[in-house]
Parts: sequence; C-alpha cells; structure tokens
Amino acid sequence: MLRFNDIADRVLDYSPSSDLELLQRAYVFSAKVHEGQERLSGEPYLIHPLEVAGVLVDMRMDAVTVAAALLHDTLEDTLTTKEELERLFGAKVAFLVEGLTKIAKIEFASARERQAENFRKMLVAMSTDIRILLIKLADRLHNMRTLEYVNESSRQRIAQETMDIYVPLAQRLGIRWLMEDLQELAFRALHAQVVEELERQLTTSREEREKYIEEVIGIISSKLSQNGINCEVKGRTKELASIYKKMQTQGIALDQMYDVIAFRVVIEGPSEMCYAALGLIHGTWRPVPSRFKDFLGNPKPNGYQSLHTTVIGPYGERMEVQIRTEEMDRDAEYGIAAHWKYKEGPADAPEDQKRFGWLRQLLEWQRELADPHEFLDTVKLDLFPDEVFVFTPRGEVMNLPRRATPVDFAYAIHSEVGDHCAGAKVNGKMVPLRHVLVDGDTVEITTSEHQFPRKDWLEFIVSGKARNHVRHSIRAVERTRARELGRDILTREMRRAGLSLSKLLQSGELEELARSEIRGGGANELFAAVSYGKIAASSVVRKLKGEEETKEEPKPVPMQERLRSLFTKRPSADASSEAGIRVSGQADVLVRFGGCCDPLPGDEVVGFVTRGRGVTVHARGCPRVFELDPERRIDVAWDAEVAVPRKIRIRVTSRDNPGILAKITNAISAAGINIAAVKVTTDEQKQASQSFELWVSNAKTLNAVMKEITRVKGVLSVDRVRG
Ligand code: MN
Repeated sequence: MLRFNDIADRVLDYSPSSDLELLQRAYVFSAKVHEGQERLSGEPYLIHPLEVAGVLVDMRMDAVTVAAALLHDTLEDTLTTKEELERLFGAKVAFLVEGLTKIAKIEFASARERQAENFRKMLVAMSTDIRILLIKLADRLHNMRTLEYVNESSRQRIAQETMDIYVPLAQRLGIRWLMEDLQELAFRALHAQVVEELERQLTTSREEREKYIEEVIGIISSKLSQNGINCEVKGRTKELASIYKKMQTQGIALDQMYDVIAFRVVIEGPSEMCYAALGLIHGTWRPVPSRFKDFLGNPKPNGYQSLHTTVIGPYGERMEVQIRTEEMDRDAEYGIAAHWKYKEGPADAPEDQKRFGWLRQLLEWQRELADPHEFLDTVKLDLFPDEVFVFTPRGEVMNLPRRATPVDFAYAIHSEVGDHCAGAKVNGKMVPLRHVLVDGDTVEITTSEHQFPRKDWLEFIVSGKARNHVRHSIRAVERTRARELGRDILTREMRRAGLSLSKLLQSGELEELARSEIRGGGANELFAAVSYGKIAASSVVRKLKGEEETKEEPKPVPMQERLRSLFTKRPSADASSEAGIRVSGQADVLVRFGGCCDPLPGDEVVGFVTRGRGVTVHARGCPRVFELDPERRIDVAWDAEVAVPRKIRIRVTSRDNPGILAKITNAISAAGINIAAVKVTTDEQKQASQSFELWVSNAKTLNAVMKEITRVKGVLSVDRVRG
C-alpha cells in the first residue's frame, strides 16, 4: 500500500521547495472525512485518494495538484463543502476539486451516442485548468486498476467509457504510459477471452522472445557505441491491446505477427544523432520500404517526436525500431505533464503555448459556437485524430475511421445499404465512391439493386465492417461464378458424350453422383469442383455412363496427393501437408503455382481460375498477373496453419574462393533448409555462380537464409530467381 510519507518524499525529490505542509493537511483532512468509508474491494476508502495522488507524483505534478488529488472525492462523497476547502487549502485546490466534481456528474453515453453537450461540458471544465483533467485521468487509472471489484455490467460500461473518452484524451495530451495503461486495462476488461488466448500463446514463446530481445539489444548497442553514439536500447513485448489492434487491422494471426516486440533506442545527444543512429541500423538490417516515419521532422499533433522504422531483423523477421533523444522520450512518456512548470496560472512559455494551444483553441471555439453540435464538430478532429465524424442527411452523427469513404459510410448505416451502394453525394455534390470523407461532411448514399460489392472497393475502404462484408460477398460471387463455369464445362463434355445435363439434373442422377463424389454436396458443389479442377469433367461423364475409370486418360491428381508424393521423399515433411493456399477461404481446391514467379508463403499472391484446371497462384507483382483476365481473378491467401515447403531457386555470385561452396551450403542447412540441387559455374574473372534449388516453407525463412549467405566471406550477391 502506498503511504503518505512516500508521496511526500517523492514530491520533495523533484520539487524541493514544495509546500509539504499543504500536502500533510490535505492528507489528514481526507483521512478524517473518508473515515469509515470503504472501497468495493473492502479496503479503507483513503487508499484511493492516496493512489491517485501517487499517479500524479509519477507525473511530477506540483503540490497543489497532489493536494487536490488527495481531496478529489471529498466534495462528491462526503459532507465537505467548497467553502471549507477554500478556507483550509486555498482557492486553487478548491477550484480543482470542484472542477473534478463537475466532471464526475457528466454521464457519458457510448462512443456512438456521445452527447455533444456532455462532451462540451467536460472539455470546458478541463480546459479551464489542465490539472483537472490530469487528476481525472489519474482517478480513472486507479479505478481501472481496481475494476475487478465492480460488478460485471458496470465493469463493461466503465471499460468502454475509458476506451472511448479517456484513452483518446490521454493520447491527445501525449502522456503515453497513461494512455497505454488505460487502454490495456480497458481492453482486458472488454475482451477477456481474447486476452486469455493471446496470453496463452505469448507465454509459450516467452523465453525465446526474451533471448531474442537481448540479442537485438546487444547488436544495436554495440553498433551504435562503436560509432560513438551513447544510447540506451530497450525492447519489450507490446501491450495486448496494440497487438490485438494490429491483428485486427492486418487480418493476421498472432504467429504471423512479427513485430509483437518494439525496440526503442534512446540517444544521449542532439536530435541529429537520431538520424545517424537510423543510418547505422539501416546499414545493419534492410529497412522495409515505406515503413519509415519521421516524426522528428514532422511531430504528431500532440507533440510526439521520434523516428520509426521497420527493418528485416537478424532472423528475417520484421522488427520495429523507434529512435529518439532522451528529451523526446520523456516528452513521449509524460506529454503535457513533462512541461508542467509548477507555475501560477496557465502555462505561457512559447513551447507550452504550442502544447496548450489546442486546448486554448477549444475554449475559444466554445465561446464562439453556441450550438453544441457545431462545437463538437469543430473539436473532435483534435481529440480523435483517428476518426472522422460525418452526418447523415437527417443530421445524425456517424463516426468512422479516418480516410473513410462513402462506401464505409454506407456499410456503417446498414450492410444492405453498403452492398448496394451505387453512388454518393457529399454536401449535396456527387462524388466518386472512393472519395475521402472529412469531418462535418453530410453524406447521402444512393443504392441500386443492380449494384454489388466490387473487389476494387477493397482498395479504398477502411472500416473493418465494410471490409468484412465486401470480402464475404465477393467470395459468394466467386462461388457462383465457379459453379457457372463448372456447369459450362460439364455441359460441353456431356454434349460430346451424347448426354444432356438438364435431363440428368431432372432425373436426379447428377445429384446422386454429386452426393457420392462430394461429401455433403449437391450438383452445385459438383459444378464448383469441376471448375476448380477437383474433379475432371470427363470423369464425371464416364461415371454417369457407368464406365470404369480408364487408365489411359490421366485423371487430375488432387493437389493433396501430388504434394504428399512430393514430400514423402523428404523425411521432415508432414504427410498431411496440403497446398497451403486457401482459395476464397476454401482449402481443398486444385492449386498450381505460376512457374513464372514461384511464390512462397508470405509473398503476396493472387489467384486465377483456369478452366477445369483449378486455380493458378501468382505473386502479386508477377507480369503474368496483368495479362490474365481480371474476371477470373479470385481471392487466395496462404493458409496460416499449413506450411508446405516449396521448391525455389536462388543464385549466389561469389569469388571463386576454395571452400566457399561448403560455407554457403552450411549456412543454408544451418537454417534448416533442404537443398534439392546445386549447379556451379565459374567464369574467367574468377567469379563463381551457384544456382541452388531449395525447399523453403516461407518467404521469411528464405529472406533469413539469403541474409545469412550474404554474410559468407567472398559472396558478392544473392538473388532469388523466379521462373
Ligand atoms: Mn475518485
């Protein structure tokens, strides 16, 4: 339990001239008036104001704020009056406590129904003195930490409110640790099951992760110190809330998420050193293009400054690294609180001006704009940088993720509206569906029953709901298309054999065959199977005619079989391996890989339906993709559960040193990769070119091993050879 003496000691530590006597009196008074009251945990009530004061001490706040924190519930929960507080502790303390009491009275509806007027009241209350908000956030933090004692329904409500209101507020104030703590606590309360599962998965890999963190920290520190940069390198597993958010936005499983660990390099020295450090890190590990963010040159609206980059780490994994100076790090952790100068009245140093600027702006707007809706509309951009607020023609507010389009809006209204969304008007003007909405737009959607979700919508829609619906409908459309295609193929094959599809359908014979061929399926599934190449049309015809399978005509071997026969040669292969590709969510489709691009799991891929021969999978960037009929394009994705090694080729150019081939092959087998074939050619310039065929199960492993090979002395280049 936190004791008053600890609080007093720490305040004196960072601010030796503080009014200790004020703190003491506040503590004694709070203890007296809360006497006999208990928290839901059964503990004495006094623990709560003490803990809240402790949080503010963590933020190194002034004595007035800490005193107000000790007294923050006295007006609300005891018989104490404002006059009493004023007399005993002065006008400032009384003002803060009163401000807090006013906020406490505001009830928040859910994020969606957040009432403009309430919101405004709170902003006004807090913007008169930022310390009110800081105490409120500390109060909420301790309440969240003791949330387990609250009954289930209140717990959900409080957690949701925390997520909707206090997390964005803490973020806006730039107090990172507070934002993260609140977000994590709220997330744990709101998603208990997800949390349990994530924790289970993370625990199994903890030891490995810790070793890995240590290794990376070692590499970065020594690299930087060798180059005269003093720094502290930290590595930690990200919070579950942010891991989950990432899994959701990227639609991936935990084991596909490589950047669950974040590294932070805190530099002792001027900000230019950050760029020097970045250069050294990029020199050590290859940066992932377009993941570099310079918040140093362009600070975030809340003042956050840092360099962010993602590199391909020592094991070919993506690794996120943040680089900043000590001062920037402190700002990122403490935000507005870091700049609290223990001054009388509002802060007015130029840098504080900037930090408090948005708050002042809010105050001015609130004076100018009488209409609370208009006010809300004006301020929300500041508080919710990730959201955009727009209006329906009837004036209802909808909040959508930033960069949302009319299609996102349509899906937010209703999935039917989304599915048939044909056009949009923004503020009365026709706009394309990919138009990006901005705050305050009034959006009107026109629907048409002939309109259906289109694949290209996925290129611009941003909300999860819209994406899910569009993917789902596209899959349904693709299934229909596959059926029609299969029916087509079968009709032609039958006609050649003198059979009539419609007659066989009527007689039920086709249905019967379908049932015996496809477990739980009917004629439609049979058509789909034919189009995906799971069953040859000719074989269906023979069976309908009652003929035995003939040996001469080769029947397409299902992919599983073919792969199985391939991999049984390899002792390490799992006999139950499948293609490792899901076509429109199905795992058992005949899949071929484009010989032109040889995609590997982890590479981005697209599929094309080939008449009667299943689906061909190409790497997204493969030139063939642009030649093929877009109508035949189909959603494919690597199956996360199945890792099937595939044969790929790499070419290594090296000096013709003795023993170099052995070193290269050692590097390959050390990575657990099997070599299928090697071919070596040497030219007159004493350069050797080795062509390897390797069994690799994913792009990550391949990248790691290629990296390993480049480290072999004498190796000049390593390239993946496609086709
Ligand atoms: Mn409280």
